[in-house]
Amino acid sequence: MRIIDRIYIDGAFVAPHGTEVQDLFNPATGQVIGRVTLGDVEDTRRAVAAAKRAFPAFARSSKAERLVLLHRLHDAAKARAEALAAATVEEYGGAVKQVAWRIALSADSFLHAAQVLQDYQFTRQVATAEVVMEPVGVVGIITPWNSNIGFICGKLATAIAAGCTAVIKPSEMSAIQTQLLIECLHEAGVPPGVFNIVNGRGDVVGAELSAHPDIAKISFTGSTAVGKAILRAGADTLKRVTLELGGKSPTVILDDADLAQAVPLAIAAGFANSGQACIAGTRILVPEARMAEFLPLAKAAVAAVKVGDPRDPETAVGPMVSLKQYERVQRYIRLGLAEGAELLVGGEGRPAGLEAGWFVRPTLFAGVTNDMTIAREEIFGPVLSVLSYRTEAEAIAIANDTVYGLQAYVLSSNPGRARAVAAQLQAGRVLINGAQHEPMAPFGGFKQSGIGREYGVYGLEAHLEPKAVLGAAA
Ligand code: NAD
Repeated sequence: MRIIDRIYIDGAFVAPHGTEVQDLFNPATGQVIGRVTLGDVEDTRRAVAAAKRAFPAFARSSKAERLVLLHRLHDAAKARAEALAAATVEEYGGAVKQVAWRIALSADSFLHAAQVLQDYQFTRQVATAEVVMEPVGVVGIITPWNSNIGFICGKLATAIAAGCTAVIKPSEMSAIQTQLLIECLHEAGVPPGVFNIVNGRGDVVGAELSAHPDIAKISFTGSTAVGKAILRAGADTLKRVTLELGGKSPTVILDDADLAQAVPLAIAAGFANSGQACIAGTRILVPEARMAEFLPLAKAAVAAVKVGDPRDPETAVGPMVSLKQYERVQRYIRLGLAEGAELLVGGEGRPAGLEAGWFVRPTLFAGVTNDMTIAREEIFGPVLSVLSYRTEAEAIAIANDTVYGLQAYVLSSNPGRARAVAAQLQAGRVLINGAQHEPMAPFGGFKQSGIGREYGVYGLEAHLEPKAVLGAAA
């Protein structure tokens, strides 16, 4: 039983003023494995005050000093990668192979930020003006449970590269992994106050950060509903925001695709992170003329997906993070059936032999139309919908017929055609033929998938204010 009863403020582990205690679970067993004492509004204000005190000196720190810091943070996170992955698997239930990859990427995000910082010119001449890019101020970082460490590391790395200080509110379901991460970031020797972490509820700590006048910017990853609440709460102080929100990503299989390659790629894009991924390709668009060929292949591929113990390296789909999430997925499976979709694999209930914990059956629906709820709303579980189209134009129209626009996938044997389709998709990222993540490229959403971009120079500039100085020429 892990007891998390400290928060991290001004370089020290301190007892929170808040007294609410919340259980932490292992989703693979449903057992309580820890308890976290949640911070409250007063804790949040103390953390903001510490970050505000640390800001002026950190904002003036040199590029060289921040580069050293980012490298130290990378080394510290990398040295503990195995323990961080094990804690994440236990507390979140993600399949170990995927979690280990994400934790390695989390540690590397400090290197990626260092790489961007190294090359970045903070001062430039624009016509008669000197333009200086200055750090925006104290950043409030709010993360979800589906890759809590990844989001903390990525957002903190960018804030540090920019010369900003931060107050972090992790997901309240991720306290064990966060505690380990704070210990290793603390050991890296970050100046006190540069980053502070307050465990707490979204409607308490998160809401306070979103409205606090001394927070200049919120960097948030989570649901679209909460993103909108943050935008409203920050309106009075005109907060800068980076909002990474939900998705309902299309996977467009073109009529020339080699289905032997396309089917496994489409299924993997849908079941990434056990389906609990904002970027999951949950709507698979298949040409009507190739549907008869596609369906048996997809059915066999989904039936073969290994669901089970997330510690097993062979596992592709682990449990849902919580009972609430399990029930949410069950409700969508029932809705799919009620709205007339054809269930090909999976369905309601737990997989055979996995009665403990919050496992769901990897599920494939065919005959889905884009007006069905399962095609419109984010399910956040391993439930895929197959939709049929007749022409490329119709495929593009269906793909874009959503309030979301985070990521899209195109599968084709003709790269030129795939690029032409990509150009017409409303999404912040388009991955062609199984392309993988690129940490230097911008990431973020069109439409209600978010505001702003993370990663690379795009993420850095979202933490900077341009200041034009005129008449200063010697
Ligand atoms: P969530 O929106 O419920 O919670 C995210 C965070 O916001 C948590 O830390 C929560 O405590 C906090 N929060 C809740 N209410 C708040 C409020 N009123 N003010 C401030 N903060 C508040 O999301 P979740 O269930 O933890 O994560 C799943 C969601 O995240 C999905 O919708 C998914 O698509 C999205 N997501 C998006 C991305 C992306 O990069 N676009 C990545 C991962 C997850």
